[in-house]
Amino acid sequence: MRLFVAILLSEPVKDMLMQTIRQLQPAVLDGRFSHRENLHLTLAFLGESSLKPAQQALHQLSGPSFAMTVEGVGRFRRDGGDILWAGVRKNPDLSALALQVQQAFSQKGFSLEKRPFAAHLTLGRQGLLPEGFDLKAFSKTLPASSMQVERVSLMKSERINGRLTYTEMDFVGLNKNREQK
Ligand code: ATP
Ligand code: MG
Repeated sequence: MRLFVAILLSEPVKDMLMQTIRQLQPAVLDGRFSHRENLHLTLAFLGESSLKPAQQALHQLSGPSFAMTVEGVGRFRRDGGDILWAGVRKNPDLSALALQVQQAFSQKGFSLEKRPFAAHLTLGRQGLLPEGFDLKAFSKTLPASSMQVERVSLMKSERINGRLTYTEMDFVGLNKNREQK
């Protein structure tokens, strides 16, 4: 099955992101936006793999629960149209977790992206913004939203009747009390 490791989002963060999508929609000339229930932050993409070893690697993860602030938007330019994403405020706990995920899954034999982790939440794909659209200025008008990250999820990705569907197959909890680390 097609697997990835992700942080699922709180309802208030999803509210804020849907608000951002609604504001972007009239501005874009073309593009497909994410469905609310699919919004997430990918820590590692495993691709076609078996569940068991992925679960084993997942359960090696440990660390503190931490706060994460989602804010602003940006784009990755692609030939078929931009990936439009929401950003995450600089966060050493998140970077450490992403590194730990890379190490745990690599050690277990998963071949992961070599590119360094760049936290982003995909809002839309094949996005086409009007020439001269000032995404930076737009980004500055958006509210931020924070949440507590308390678990890391192992997700299955599949198309069900043509619809992209993500299912949480397993998760590992992060330590809620830093002192007990
Ligand atoms: P679709 O590919 O159908 O448009 P999707 O990209 O959301 O949808 P998947 O391709 O299954 O679905 O990817 C699941 C998650 O992993 C997404 O967050 C996606 O951005 C991320 N991802 C996919 N491929 C890679 C990759 N090669 N490197 C890093 N992250 C990836
Ligand atoms: Mg994809």
